[in-house]
Amino acid sequence: MGATLKEILIHQDGHFGPYGGRYVPEILVPIMDDLRDAFFTAIQDDQFVEELKYLHKHYTGRPTPLYYCENLTRRLGGAQVYMKNEGLLHTGAHKINHCLGQALIAKKMGKTRVIAETGAGQHGLATATVCAKFGLECIVYMGAKDYRRQRPNVFWMEQLGATVIPVAEGGQTLRDAINAALRDLISNPSNTHYLLGTVCGPNPYPAMNTYFQKVIGEETREQMIDQTGGLPDHMIACVGGGSNALGFFYDFLDDPNVKLTGVEAGGKGVDGVEHAARFEGGKVGVVEGFKSYFLQNEEGQLADTHSISAGLDYAGVGPQISYLKDDGRVRFTYAKDDDVLKAYQILAKTEGVFAALESSHAVAEVIKLTPTLDKTKTVVFNCSGRGDKDLFIVTKEMQDEKFSEYLRDQVRDV
Ligand SMILES: *Cc1c(COP(=O)(O)O)cnc(C)c1O
Repeated sequence: MGATLKEILIHQDGHFGPYGGRYVPEILVPIMDDLRDAFFTAIQDDQFVEELKYLHKHYTGRPTPLYYCENLTRRLGGAQVYMKNEGLLHTGAHKINHCLGQALIAKKMGKTRVIAETGAGQHGLATATVCAKFGLECIVYMGAKDYRRQRPNVFWMEQLGATVIPVAEGGQTLRDAINAALRDLISNPSNTHYLLGTVCGPNPYPAMNTYFQKVIGEETREQMIDQTGGLPDHMIACVGGGSNALGFFYDFLDDPNVKLTGVEAGGKGVDGVEHAARFEGGKVGVVEGFKSYFLQNEEGQLADTHSISAGLDYAGVGPQISYLKDDGRVRFTYAKDDDVLKAYQILAKTEGVFAALESSHAVAEVIKLTPTLDKTKTVVFNCSGRGDKDLFIVTKEMQDEKFSEYLRDQVRDV
């Protein structure tokens, strides 16, 4: 018998078929080896596993609910719709799962300083949160452009005690922040942990973050059996780097009757360049330390991307996601900004839940797929985060005049 998909996707060597690996400067190799060894040792240690469980229960708020969306189901008139609600976690999204796990590993390794990269600021916020909790010094690199346009998250990170450093190089966005973080790690290898925010990057990050996220699917399995007597027929998640999707799907990878769908950011349409759907025109390449699909321009540089949701607005995707794409185990599709905004509103009005714009990509696919399925079938989607963080984007997209007036009044008062 060959290895199962679950065995292939969490593995010490970090190669997933042709994808993954560790393409880093020589000087980082021993650092990544130490991290890999510390991680794979920790997860064999009952005390570590128990501590993580305890913190999830009492600090982050696990298990998160699996909720039958009765009103949405009635409205769509097809399969029964369920929502796994990661938006109810502390800090409002699944990102806390791998931040908490990595902070525990950093502590175990005797690290005193944590660095992170962030684009929109959500990963920086979750990192600053766990650093505050564990008394770790926290430095967050942010492209200077992101630093200016994501002021609320910069403010919250600073309130949590983090130092946020704007990076005034290149396009002044996420990839410049990643480069700055890697340079920092090279200069401070002994006391610093680089807390990477999704299932991307060099080995061991993809395997490690998948491990810390797979709790989502493990809970979902138990809750589905408890509530419906069986496994779901369809599971749907949005895909940025791929961490919430992998965490949601992982426990079901070796159950062929459960159909899995990943939803990328279709932006303004995949015919043009204003999207972030890597499987719609992306090419295989090696960028930022790993091999995977990337949207690239003619020179082979990472392309500029667009999505209504900051968390999906990235040119790369995790290597295990690329493996699952080629393997065919997961079907990939995309949702366009317009449909995402509609999905956001439909879920709010039918179930009283604001999903993050990222998660609303999954909701858009639920709305499309569910009416085509029989009433005896079940569909479960991952609500990776809650939507209150998207206030400024949503009010702008909906051209809410009263809200603009409010903002102008606020500015006058400053
Ligand atoms: C960051 C983020 C994502 C995208 O990241 P993945 O690694 O693909 O999960 C999705 N949803 C929310 C709410 C996020 O904050």
